[in-house]
Amino acid sequence: MADWQVAVIGAGPGGYAAAIRCAQLGLKTVCIDERLSTDGKQPSLGGTCLNIGCIPSKVLLEDSLQYSRLKEGHPAFKVRAPAPNIAKLMERKNKVVEGLCKGVAQLCSGNGVECIYGRAQLLAPGQIQLDGKTDITAEHIIMAPGSVPVEIPAAPFNGKQILDSTAALSLPAVPSTLAIIGAGAIGLELGSVWARLGAKVQVLEALEDFLPMLDREVARQAQRALASHGLDIQLGCRVTAAAVEGERSVQVSWQQGDATHAESFERLIVAVGRRPATEGLLATGCGLQTDDKGMIVVDDYCATAVPNVWAVGDVVRGPMLAHKATEEGVMVAERIAGEAAQINYPLIPAVIYTHPEIATVGQTETDCAAAGVDCSSGRFSFAANGRALASGEGEGMVKLVGCPVPNPEGSKAEMRIVGAQVVGSGAAELIQQVAIAMEFGAVAEDLALTTFSHPSVSEVLHEAALDLAGRPLHQIKKKRGRAKK
Ligand code: FAD
Ligand code: AMP
Repeated sequence: MADWQVAVIGAGPGGYAAAIRCAQLGLKTVCIDERLSTDGKQPSLGGTCLNIGCIPSKVLLEDSLQYSRLKEGHPAFKVRAPAPNIAKLMERKNKVVEGLCKGVAQLCSGNGVECIYGRAQLLAPGQIQLDGKTDITAEHIIMAPGSVPVEIPAAPFNGKQILDSTAALSLPAVPSTLAIIGAGAIGLELGSVWARLGAKVQVLEALEDFLPMLDREVARQAQRALASHGLDIQLGCRVTAAAVEGERSVQVSWQQGDATHAESFERLIVAVGRRPATEGLLATGCGLQTDDKGMIVVDDYCATAVPNVWAVGDVVRGPMLAHKATEEGVMVAERIAGEAAQINYPLIPAVIYTHPEIATVGQTETDCAAAGVDCSSGRFSFAANGRALASGEGEGMVKLVGCPVPNPEGSKAEMRIVGAQVVGSGAAELIQQVAIAMEFGAVAEDLALTTFSHPSVSEVLHEAALDLAGRPLHQIKKKRGRAKK
C-alpha cells in the first residue's frame, strides 16, 4: 500500500491549493517543498507568489506609490520633503510575506495536510525520492514546482549589479540609475517601484510592440502613462552585453535598429521571463514528457501522459499566473476525488500592477479579427468619471469587446461580451467584474441594465457597456462601424 493517497511537489499557489483541496476531499495528502524563509532559518510555504513574487512586489508597489504621492505633494497641503527609508520598507514587506507564509502553513495543518521540507524528485509513477535518500510512495502525484527566472548569456546574474527579480525585491538602497531588460509584467512592476523611489529607470525591450498581447489603443495609453511616471521604455532593443565596471556600475550594451548603445547603470535587472523549474525534478525513465520550453506536457485537465501523475501551475502551458495555478490545483484535487472539475481557460484575467494598472480578460478586437469573428467595442474614459477625477485618477480607459448574437426578444442583435481591457487606477478590480459577467454569459445590455453606485469608478464599465449596446449616455454618440472580418 502507498504511504499517501496524494503527494504534491511544491507548495506555491498551485501546490498548496491542490494539497488543501485534496485533504478537504478526504484524501491522505503530503506536500513537499524545499523553500526556506529569506533568513534561511525555517521552511517557508507559499512558493514564488508569497515569498518572492506577487505579494512582496505588491507591498513595494503600494508603499512606493504612497511615497511618490507624498513627494509630488498636494496643492492644498504643505508636506515636508519626504525621504524613503528602504530598511523600513523591506521590514514591512518581509512582515507581510512572513505572515502570509505562516498562514499557508496553518491552513495546511488545519486541513490535515502533512508538510515536509525537502527537495523532491519524481523517480517513477507513484514514487518520489526526498533529498536523494528517502522514498515516498503515493497513489497520485501532483507536480507543482513552479518556475525560475530566465537568465540570458549577455547578462548573467551575479546578485550584485546584475539582478533577477528576487534580488530586485530586496535592494538595500535606491540605485541612482537602473536598467531593466524586458518590458513584461515583472520588468514594468519592478521598474515602477524603483522609479517611484527615485531611480532613473530605463527599460529595454526586444520587441517592437509594447505589451503585444494587449489592445493597441490600451497599450499606447499605458505606455504614455508609464512614461509620464518616469519609466523610459525603449522598444526594439537587443541587449548584447553587460560588463561589470565596479561595485556600483554595470555597462549595458544594446542594439536598437542600426544604432549601437552602451551606457553605465548602477544596477541592471534582467526580467525576460521565467522558465519551468524542472531541473533535477524528473528522474530518467519517470515517463513524464516536457515540451521545447521545458514545460511538463498535460491535457486540458492537467493530467500528464502517465496515469495518476498530474502537473499544475507555472510548470505547464498557459499564463504564468498565481490564480491560474490555484485553479489548476483545485481542479486536479477534485478530479482525483472523482469530480468533473474543469477550468474556463479563456476567462483567466491578467493584471500588471503598475500605476495606472493594466488589466485584460478574454479577447481583444484584434483577436476577433484574426479569428474572422464579427465584433465591435464600447469604450469609456476615466477622465469622464466623477469618482476617478475626485481621486485624482482621471488617467485611463476601458474597452469592452462584444460579438453580436441574435436577440430572442427583439430584432436588434445583442452584443455578447467576449473581452475587456482596462488601463487605469483599480483596473484589477474592474476586470474582475467583467470576468464575472462573462462567466455568466452576459451581453452588453445586462451590464447596461445593472444599476451602478454613483459615484464609483465602476461606472466606467457601465458606460462602456452602454456604448457597446449602442446607447452611450455620458458621451457623445458617434457612428462607428464594426471591426472588419
Ligand atoms: P511557485 O509559486 O513557483 O511554487 C513552487 C514551489 O515549489 C516553490 O516554493 C519551490 O521552491 C518548490 N519546488 C520546486 N521544485 C521543487 C522540488 N524539486 N522539491 C521541492 N520543492 C520544489 N502572478 C500573478 O498572478 N499575479 C502577480 O501579481 C504576480 N506577480 C509576480 C511578481 C514577481 C516578481 C514574480 C517573480 C512572479 C509573479 N507572479 C504573479 C507569478 C506567480 O508568482 C506564479 O505564477 C505562481 O507563483 C506560480 O505558482 P506555482 O504554484 O506554479 O509555483
Ligand atoms: P514576461 O514574459 O511577461 O515576463 O516578459 C518578458 C519580456 O522580456 C518580453 O516582453 C520579452 O519580449 C522581453 N525580452 C526577452 N528577451 C529579451 C532580451 N534579450 N532583451 C530585451 N527584452 C527581452
